[in-house]
Amino acid sequence: MIVKKFTTGPIDTNSYLLICPSSKSAVVIDVGQDSAQELNSYAERHQLKLEKILLTHSHWDHIAGLAHLKNHLDIRVYVHQDDENNIINPGSDGLLLFIPIQGVKVDHYLKDEEVINAGDLRIKVIHTPGHTPGGVCFYLEEQKMLFSGDTLFQGAIGRMDLPTACSPLKMIESLKKLETLPQETIIYPGHGEKTTIKQELSNIHAMEKLLHKRKI
Ligand SMILES: [Zn+2]
Ligand SMILES: [Zn+2]
Repeated sequence: MIVKKFTTGPIDTNSYLLICPSSKSAVVIDVGQDSAQELNSYAERHQLKLEKILLTHSHWDHIAGLAHLKNHLDIRVYVHQDDENNIINPGSDGLLLFIPIQGVKVDHYLKDEEVINAGDLRIKVIHTPGHTPGGVCFYLEEQKMLFSGDTLFQGAIGRMDLPTACSPLKMIESLKKLETLPQETIIYPGHGEKTTIKQELSNIHAMEKLLHKRKI
């Protein structure tokens, strides 16, 4: 599998292209501001079949280019049902929009443990509420790769002070799901550089303790 990262927008959001080299099938994970053009021209240059848009969550910085890409290519959008509203009506989640963002309809609801196929790629959905109720991570077991959205970063976890945040207990449960993945799993986050489960374990445990204190 080939992974291509596109970092765009005012808060350096990562959008990813996951490519199956044998079939040239590809999926997009998140569509940051001004990334649609780049994603599309890369796909055209390499004659890729963009099959699906998978969303880690519905925050504006991950969907700013969504309408542009979906309408241009007529591809299906996959998101967890609990994050659907802000896809249809961006800004309804209470976060300030810095630019106007066009809504789109959702074509498929992602479910925990569902497997999405594209060519030879097997992409498992891990529901990780916390940063938003419908937040998910995408796990490729064979390649040992995790696309973690804004749930887990290098040295940090997703913000829990935004209007979309769930109870700290939800985030603890979500982090516990991630810490059981193989330690060598490479994490590709929604912002910043890649890391590994092994590298983040002590940080995850520290954050769980901190969140646990906050729950009372
Ligand atoms: Zn976010
Ligand atoms: Zn983000």
